[in-house]
Amino acid sequence: MNDILQSAPHTDLPALSLRGVSKRFGEAEVVSDFSLDLYAGEFVALLGASGSGKSTTLRMLAGLERPSSGQVLMGGVDVTDLRPAARNIALMFQSYALYPHLTVRQNIATPLRQALLSAAARLPGAALLSAKTRETEAAINSRTQSVAQMLRLDGLLDRKPGQLSGGQQQRVALARALVRDPSAFLLDEPLSNLDTALRHTTREEIRDLHRRTGHAFLLVTHDQADALSMADRIAVMIAGRVAQCAPAADIYHRPATREVARFIGAHR
Ligand code: ADP
Ligand code: MG
Repeated sequence: MNDILQSAPHTDLPALSLRGVSKRFGEAEVVSDFSLDLYAGEFVALLGASGSGKSTTLRMLAGLERPSSGQVLMGGVDVTDLRPAARNIALMFQSYALYPHLTVRQNIATPLRQALLSAAARLPGAALLSAKTRETEAAINSRTQSVAQMLRLDGLLDRKPGQLSGGQQQRVALARALVRDPSAFLLDEPLSNLDTALRHTTREEIRDLHRRTGHAFLLVTHDQADALSMADRIAVMIAGRVAQCAPAADIYHRPATREVARFIGAHR
């Protein structure tokens, strides 16, 4: 890949960590003393009932919400006070709203263009800026092509989202999230609005993407079938706390607490 797009050098430190993170909204503590290490190449699911604090946890990782206490680290570096754009974490939500007036190509390229042009604008000298801009456009085009190819979208780059099937739109959203070659990929209930057929294809799509990119993936879901079929490791979240964090099979066969057993049992 082009130099300009290369992510941080590989280290053995976790791609993403939460260290004793808590979050209060007024009187209510919705996330309590949450610790988790997520390594490159891992696929972890955060599984819990609605209201257990999963999205708030994800939002703190992404920088959309500031912890009341504790730290967020990326590659061992404290990023607790870094704004979302400075973290290079990809996010995909349940409503993956594509820009309807932009082509597939523009939809995919937008986050990358924003990141690279704002970096170029900080360079001194107008001449240097325009040279950099040309170089940047070429890099954006080649990266957009390669991500589109990875998600089998190469023939659809000039269409608008309205001219695509639901599955194709889903793949554009994945491509857009991946275009900056993120250090971690966070997915918040990405399957919950999909019909059964599309749900199964999208599960496969996400698994496949994980295998091919080797990024750290964190999937938030209330659906244990999603967690068990996709994740290597599952953190079960109950009332703002991690009740158990273990390989998927252990969670299913050896729940550590009565609450975990009840949660898994209730959803079997
Ligand atoms: P989940 O994603 O597991 O359903 P959330 O993280 O969305 O859970 O929410 C956890 C709890 O925090 C809920 O009780 C929710 O109402 C509350 N909450 C989330 N965001 C806010 C906010 N911005 N202000 C006040 N309460 C919030
Ligand atoms: Mg949620």
